[in-house]
Formats: sequence, C-alpha cells, structure tokens
Amino acid sequence: MQCSVCSTEGFTEKAHIKSKSRFQKFENDKIFNILPICPRCHYYFDVCKAFTLHNEWKCWVFSDKANFYSADEILFDNPFSNFMYAYPPKIHQKKINRIDGELIMENQRKEFTVNNAGSPSKYFSDLEIILRQIGRWDEHNQRPLGRKITSEMKIIDE
Ligand SMILES: [Zn+2]
Repeated sequence: MQCSVCSTEGFTEKAHIKSKSRFQKFENDKIFNILPICPRCHYYFDVCKAFTLHNEWKCWVFSDKANFYSADEILFDNPFSNFMYAYPPKIHQKKINRIDGELIMENQRKEFTVNNAGSPSKYFSDLEIILRQIGRWDEHNQRPLGRKITSEMKIIDE
C-alpha cells in the first residue's frame, strides 16, 4: 500500500491518530483512527512527534524542529523540518476526511512537538501567516495550496 505521508509504495504499518495507549481498555481504537504509513514515517510520527494532521485543512502539518534525539541520545536530522505541510496521496484523502476532529486534536495536543512551546493552534495560525506571505495559501478554500511529498522525500507544489 501507499504511505499516507510520503507516498512510498510498499509495506505499511497502521498509524493511530489518537494513540492506542490513550484509549480505554474496551474502546475501539481503530474506527476512523488508522492511516497506513511506512515504517520510516511511522517512526517520525510516533517517536519524534514530527507531524500531525490539521483538523480543518485535512493535511499533515510538520514540526519546525531541525533535529531529534534517538533513544540512545544521538542527534539526527528531521527530514520534514522544511516541508511545513503536505496533503496525503489522493487515495487516502477520504480516509483522512473521515477521522473525527476530536481524535485529530488530541494528536495535535499530545503527539506533536515544535520549537517554541505554544498551543498547536498558535503554531497553525503562525504557519497560515507564513503561507500567505509566500503565496501558498488558498483563499477560496481557506487552506494551504496543494503540496505532496514524494518517496524520495522531496516536496512537489501544485
Ligand atoms: Zn512514508
């Protein structure tokens, strides 16, 4: 299957938008809460908290942190740090549209880390200002213009 973040074709894992550990014992953690994601993106999503979904824009939003520490305290680069945002491949867009806003916002609050501590909504509104300045804002639909990540970890603007 295709990774819902970087479009890589191949083996994918199930990424929980609201993390599995935050569900009660008998609660269903899978309904409208799972996205296919490649192992590389899953690591950055779960361990580094390098990106989240935007509940209204329906795209990924990436952390501005330039690097992260591994479990054994080795500093490594964040490959997404300059991407700002990207939409999932079209085949996954519907799935993302169906994910409950509450689950997404829980992910934003608890599973997303950025340089300057502040609320996710502050980070998003600052990002919106930047996107307007660089001409990447879609006034009509009130969300960022089309942008995708390729399996070579490059961004393609539409
Ligand atoms: Zn990926």
